[in-house]
Amino acid sequence: MNDGTYLKNELDKLILSDISIFEFIKSSSLDGMWYWDLEHPENEWMSERFWEVMGYDPAKMKHLASEWQDKIFLDDLEVAINNFHKHLEDPNHRYDQVVRYKHKDGSTVWVRCRGIAIRDEEGKPIRMLGAHNDLTEIMKAKQEIEELNKQLYEQANKDFLTKLYNRRGFEEQSREIIEIAKRDGSQISIAMFDIDHFKKVNDTYGHDEGDRVLKFIANTLVDIGRASDIIGRFGGEEFIFIMPPKTDKEESIIAAERIRLYIQNHPIEHIGKVTISAGIATLLPNQNDNTNELADKLRIQADKALYFAKQHGRNRVGHFDDL
Ligand code: GH3
Ligand code: MG
Ligand code: MG
Repeated sequence: MNDGTYLKNELDKLILSDISIFEFIKSSSLDGMWYWDLEHPENEWMSERFWEVMGYDPAKMKHLASEWQDKIFLDDLEVAINNFHKHLEDPNHRYDQVVRYKHKDGSTVWVRCRGIAIRDEEGKPIRMLGAHNDLTEIMKAKQEIEELNKQLYEQANKDFLTKLYNRRGFEEQSREIIEIAKRDGSQISIAMFDIDHFKKVNDTYGHDEGDRVLKFIANTLVDIGRASDIIGRFGGEEFIFIMPPKTDKEESIIAAERIRLYIQNHPIEHIGKVTISAGIATLLPNQNDNTNELADKLRIQADKALYFAKQHGRNRVGHFDDL
């Protein structure tokens, strides 16, 4: 039976006897090779392809280690040197990392760089042999995909006008916060804001000016809120706000009042004073509560409190527990 052994043995011999075989393997699979004299570490032979990948003319290079050390990203040099020392101490620790170089034209070159130490009879490392694979195209494609994914996520989960979460994004984020509250057994509060008589703004100043008001309100929510608050634009002129776990009724009212007052006290250019009303709900979840049901319950209660605030004169904050 043929298990390929005779061919493998033949190839091994061929590699030893005919340098062109090794040249073929090198040129068809590697994007650079280097051979480093660890006893005279300034000396390092680098293959032509090594420099071609970086955009340099190999004929002009001097085979000095400083030549590549000048062109590799400093952070990556640190990683490589660290692995180098570990590999010298322990051959089982692999010298293998993806590093970035600055191409002659200023662009970034990614290479996977692998190497092995060559040791003398006492086991002392005297040389280092290394091989490069150019990963630039793959890394560029990867970055493009990541950027595209980010854009898709933004489109699906963020509101175009205000850059806040849209309803879908908000619901996803709020589920995470509710999970934490369930686990920690801490209270959770949400507030719903609605601009008062917003229709009148649109009717009087036009839709574009109305949009400007929406952006102002959104920015205010972001600026006045805490970084850990999750803020969404729920519908046309409705905003929703989930506060981090442990925010109780009193704290949630204080937070909403701060926003209401800020908006009341900061007239908008061309338009003047705009006011908002808010409805808040606070719940203390149980570990076994269903997250989606909790989210619905919070929203429905906040909506009722908002309706109540509207009914009682607007420009006010109402809490469901006080209805
Ligand atoms: P209330 O105090 O009861 O909330 O009165 P209101 O006029 O704000 O309430 P209503 O819900 O009747 O009107 C909301 C208005 O919001 C109607 C709609 O024209 C406007 N609106 C919704 N989405 C947008 C938007 O994206 N841009 C602009 N400019 N206006 C919007
Ligand atoms: Mg409304
Ligand atoms: Mg309104």
